[in-house]
Amino acid sequence: MFRLTVIYDNRANQDFTASWGFAALIETNRETLLFDTGWDGPLLLRHMKKLNIDPTRIRKLVLSHQHWDHIGGLPEILQANPGLEVYVPASFSENLKREIEKRAILIEIREPVEISQGIRSTGELGDRVKEQALILDTGNGSYVLTGCAHPGLAAILDTASHYGKVKGILGGLHDNEEFERLGGMELIAAGHCTAHREKIKEIFPAKFVEIEVGLRVDLE
Ligand SMILES: [Zn+2]
Ligand SMILES: [Zn+2]
Repeated sequence: MFRLTVIYDNRANQDFTASWGFAALIETNRETLLFDTGWDGPLLLRHMKKLNIDPTRIRKLVLSHQHWDHIGGLPEILQANPGLEVYVPASFSENLKREIEKRAILIEIREPVEISQGIRSTGELGDRVKEQALILDTGNGSYVLTGCAHPGLAAILDTASHYGKVKGILGGLHDNEEFERLGGMELIAAGHCTAHREKIKEIFPAKFVEIEVGLRVDLE
């Protein structure tokens, strides 16, 4: 079972502050992993505190892509937890990778790879904006977690499908219009930069979940 908590998003419930960007925590009984950092590090840490998430408990940080709204909180999170393992697409700027290496353990991602038990990176996808997504394998189908989904739903879901049936997707879906790719899913939790949120909600009303800071879902 994966417990996913949204820590940073363009939308927030009344206890939190909405801010452009995305960050989510994934917890299993053996792993605590942060996916992206939003852009405002102090706000990220304030939200963590409110959610009872101790940043020193996080073992791994996965950065989906090198956009400001996903990596801005990096200095604060590394200060709060030095020595983290940080997984980045290999195409990240050399200067940024060097800076990360000074404070953490840098792992560059090219091909799909298992980062932790049941948690796999799609590898670096896309042409213009390179991005990795995560595949959370429940043993009975998987869920895909995206930052902005710049490489397109087809590229991400084709890769994820190699590792079993995709039951759901969570995260930013950018301006993707490949709505048919979402058919048959049990959960479509769209947030952050999803341009066609209303349209997706209209097509899949029973499966749609609005992402906002404070949302907690158990994936099994
Ligand atoms: Zn974004
Ligand atoms: Zn982006």
